[in-house]
Amino acid sequence: MDFKEKIAIIPNFPKEGISFKDITPLIGDGKAFQELIDTMAKKLKELKVDYIAGPEARGFIFGVPLAYALGVGFIPIRKPGKLPQETVSITYDLEYGTDTLEIHKNAFKKGDRVALVDDLLATGGTISACAKLIELAGGEVASIDFMIELTELRGRDKLEGYHVESMVQYD
Ligand code: 5GP
Repeated sequence: MDFKEKIAIIPNFPKEGISFKDITPLIGDGKAFQELIDTMAKKLKELKVDYIAGPEARGFIFGVPLAYALGVGFIPIRKPGKLPQETVSITYDLEYGTDTLEIHKNAFKKGDRVALVDDLLATGGTISACAKLIELAGGEVASIDFMIELTELRGRDKLEGYHVESMVQYD
């Protein structure tokens, strides 16, 4: 299946000049969504991961069914103040200002292999913060998987040394 056909391009959202890649038609199509998750799961199976982790909110949409398909646990990476137990947190730079993400300190054991999943790789700021978070908590980032990669923004440059995959690419 050509998954690109199921991604809507929305001009000037959320701001003037941004061409937003909308995944809702894809996840709203049961057959397409199932084929996508099965394809991603097949690739990840070989890497023998212990957990899938993903940042809220769109990372959950792909991460949870992938974890289910692989029979491994899912670890939510969340905005501050959302997780009820002791957390590890990281603050990273955005275009304007900063953002913070957190995971539970006891989410996995030291040395566990964690695959990170998010919907889209743009500048790589979000996912490289997630990777650091996993490492701060003692885990190994076994793989980083995206539904969409915006290649022109060169997010991969921030992810050197990691195994990075994306299902569809846009310039
Ligand atoms: P980055 O940190 O790589 O610059 O941005 C990636 C994050 O922003 C992802 O968590 C993703 O959900 C969100 N994002 C940025 N642009 C888009 C877009 O065009 N479509 C979607 N679905 N998410 C986007």
